[in-house]
Amino acid sequence: MNVFDCHLHSDMSPDSREDMENYIKLAVENGDKYFLTTEHANIIDDKENPYRHMIDIEIIKAKTDRMRQKYADKIEVLFGIEIGWNKAVHDFEIEFSHRYPFDMIILALHGRPAGDTVDQRFDDYLAQCCVAAATFGNYDTFAHVDYVLRYIGHTDLSKHRERLTQLFQILISQDKALEINTKQAPDPQAMERIDYILSLYTQLGGKKLTIGSDAHSVPVYKNAFDEVIELIKKYGINQVYVYKQRKAIAISI
Ligand SMILES: [Zn+2]
Ligand SMILES: [Zn+2]
Repeated sequence: MNVFDCHLHSDMSPDSREDMENYIKLAVENGDKYFLTTEHANIIDDKENPYRHMIDIEIIKAKTDRMRQKYADKIEVLFGIEIGWNKAVHDFEIEFSHRYPFDMIILALHGRPAGDTVDQRFDDYLAQCCVAAATFGNYDTFAHVDYVLRYIGHTDLSKHRERLTQLFQILISQDKALEINTKQAPDPQAMERIDYILSLYTQLGGKKLTIGSDAHSVPVYKNAFDEVIELIKKYGINQVYVYKQRKAIAISI
């Protein structure tokens, strides 16, 4: 079975202008068995209108259902979501995660971490990731652990071994997957970070990975998958996971 892209955004996310159907056409061409987008569900701490995201999710669900029917004989369209964890609306996010028939839930953090240096800010980011991963419960995979470095600059992940160990141990003990995010690959610094993440995660006994490009447009769909899959295999991992009806399905790589 082809590895399909488990982290994608279409124009139903506020930061993408790509029609979901354009990805589906490509996935069908590639002969993929499954397809999903994981639109942003960044629930806002807005006292005036805390439910405003519900309008968006209804649109996403309706479009997913429509695409599922239209392409039923070519590809299986699944219903994914990327929940951006926000401490202020934690309970509401959990309720939201149970309310819709998601096939796959990605948990992610997009906040602005505190600190003066790259390392202080990254440490703060990872500390928040640990709280989210430990307390959220209803998710399948934890996204882009080095996300914040996209914006604040590269650092040597070995300096953050302790926090990363804590995070990976939470995921492993709760049987959650770790996402390998290929957005910045094959840039050498991004590959170095992925290499460190894989090395530490597998040393700790981690085996369950998902892989996603975090693409917001078709040209970067499955970005650098070949290079990153080669790297994953070096650590003795021969399968990645996808989720259907919240159940893990292994795909050989
Ligand atoms: Zn994200
Ligand atoms: Zn994303």
